[in-house]
Amino acid sequence: MALRTQKIQLNPNNKQSTLLAQHCGYARVAYNAALSSFKSGLDDGNWKTLYDIKKEFNAKKREVFPWCDAMSQNASKNAIHNFNDAVKRWRSGQNRFPKPKNRSGRQSYQADNGKGSVRVHKKRVWLPKVGWARMREELRWTGEIGRVVVSRKDDKWFVSILVRTDEENTMVQMSLIDDKPAVGVDVGINTLATCSDGTTYENPRPLKRYLRQLRRAGRGLSRKVYLSSNWHKARKRLAHVHYRISCIREDSHHKASTSIVRKASAIGIETLNVSGLLKNRKLAKALSDSALSKFLTMLKYKAVRRGIPITEASMFFASSKTCSRCGHKKAELNLSERTYHCTECGFECDRDINAAVNLCPV
Ligand SMILES: [Zn+2]
Repeated sequence: MALRTQKIQLNPNNKQSTLLAQHCGYARVAYNAALSSFKSGLDDGNWKTLYDIKKEFNAKKREVFPWCDAMSQNASKNAIHNFNDAVKRWRSGQNRFPKPKNRSGRQSYQADNGKGSVRVHKKRVWLPKVGWARMREELRWTGEIGRVVVSRKDDKWFVSILVRTDEENTMVQMSLIDDKPAVGVDVGINTLATCSDGTTYENPRPLKRYLRQLRRAGRGLSRKVYLSSNWHKARKRLAHVHYRISCIREDSHHKASTSIVRKASAIGIETLNVSGLLKNRKLAKALSDSALSKFLTMLKYKAVRRGIPITEASMFFASSKTCSRCGHKKAELNLSERTYHCTECGFECDRDINAAVNLCPV
């Protein structure tokens, strides 16, 4: 059994998109109600469980939110469950205390009510209370449908569907990777990825490219009267630029990571100390634009899916400073030095390739 998710754009009709937006609102309201009832419990010194919060919400929902019967109750139920998970993460010290959600934040809700409550037929998905909504493409996997999350980005609707497939996860491809080499991958700002075999993948740096447009759209928004119809138009324009940027970034990440896992039998990567790197103000913008951690996460899950072993070097392993031929470690290496030159053995090589070879698992 393998778990697969696919995010597909929806083509809802007008009635459906209104309903989807209302469901997102209902989920938000339920989450915030759960938060405030949990908080009041903390103030009075009694710890409210998931069961208490749910019971309390269901008792008063028709009174406070008279429109709630037109909504699928899955939206509120799942939102309260999500709140409970947030509390768990807070208690374990993983996250900070949950914050209330506001209208301008990410809009989404979870539509399913356990197994089999959402159906998919060809290019359509059946969502409770919304009905059959059209999808832009068919679901790639067959199997039992689990979690279904509807979300909105740049005034477009998306559905993310989790499928428990019957196929064996990793063993299938094992025979295919025998004759392929092990590959070390060095990630960076100028080139997204440099492999130890010498191939490189461009980093499109979309934020840099769209910065002018982004500033223009942001300026336009700030000059409009808040919540006026021109303000809404400007908000859409700005959201669209952000959407373009994230699409370009994601596309390059997917293409590079797929290409790398296809040619490797083992992969070695570095562990990025992103919060440390972000302290360098000159690099911060370029680093956030590259979203390198996201890229490495993608590389990892694609490798796991294919059954390719992936080794992560320690955060303190100096992959750039070490000579890949004799192992000599330089005390200092300037970022402007694009070619690695070893003072011990005279080895010369491109800086990024040298690092990638050092990261290569043997
Ligand atoms: Zn050397």
